[in-house]
Amino acid sequence: MSGNIVILTGAGISAESGIPTFRAADGLWEGHRVEDVATPEAYERQPEVVQKFYNERRRYLLNGIEANEGHRALARLEAEYPSEVLLVTQNIDNLHEKGGSQKVLHMHGELLKGRCLACGEECEVVGDLGPDSQCSLCEERGKIRPAIVWFGEMPDHMPQIEKALMEADLFLSVGTSGQVYPAAGFVEIARVAGAETIEVNLDETIGSSRFARTVRGKAGETLPGLVEELLNRP
Ligand code: NAD
Ligand code: ZN
Repeated sequence: MSGNIVILTGAGISAESGIPTFRAADGLWEGHRVEDVATPEAYERQPEVVQKFYNERRRYLLNGIEANEGHRALARLEAEYPSEVLLVTQNIDNLHEKGGSQKVLHMHGELLKGRCLACGEECEVVGDLGPDSQCSLCEERGKIRPAIVWFGEMPDHMPQIEKALMEADLFLSVGTSGQVYPAAGFVEIARVAGAETIEVNLDETIGSSRFARTVRGKAGETLPGLVEELLNRP
């Protein structure tokens, strides 16, 4: 069998690269409540606090964070698998791209991009954003927000993702806690469409029982073997 594969990844796949997960122990994201840094209301109320939070994440990411064996295994799957492989990530880091994946849909946006609220265009961002940041297209200042999909906003690429899920033969979920919708509901769409479902996670999640098969362990340690198995299926 070599039907279409849809992969969903979450913060867990980047944990071994040194990026802390979201709900690690305390339910906080790097010491912040999500309502204070990851909602449109927070940005309206205190844009400088939100910018500072993402500026810190961006600096950290660009300061030597590298892809791990988990990212690389998924890139290998995309390169060598005979049918379609669609990689959908909730992560805002660029580690799938660094690991060699060619086609990545970032449903929650990207840390290394900004969106200009004056002209609506997206641009690459490698430095800090702030009130002086100027849009390279329309030249307005202070109008660039992080190109992150915040809580309460519609995730990107949803029509394309839902179509792929309905045509999937295998749905693979890696390192996601299954608490953030709509991503948490993908397994159900794929299962109803008749797909095989596999979850890779360090721990049991609230969604684990929805998967036909669960692989327990670190993504960087388990994915290379799982990918090898998928590539060797008759
Ligand atoms: P989450 O933090 O809620 O859950 C992480 C999951 O990964 C947990 O279930 C945990 O058991 C598992 N895990 C931890 N280490 C692992 C490992 N080495 N191998 C396999 N699994 C491991 O993350 P989420 O479900 O992605 O949702 C959090 C939200 O926060 C997302 O919307 C995302 O955009 C954002 N976020 C992104 C990043 C990033 O870009 N790297 C980091 C933190 C949060
Ligand atoms: Zn602009």
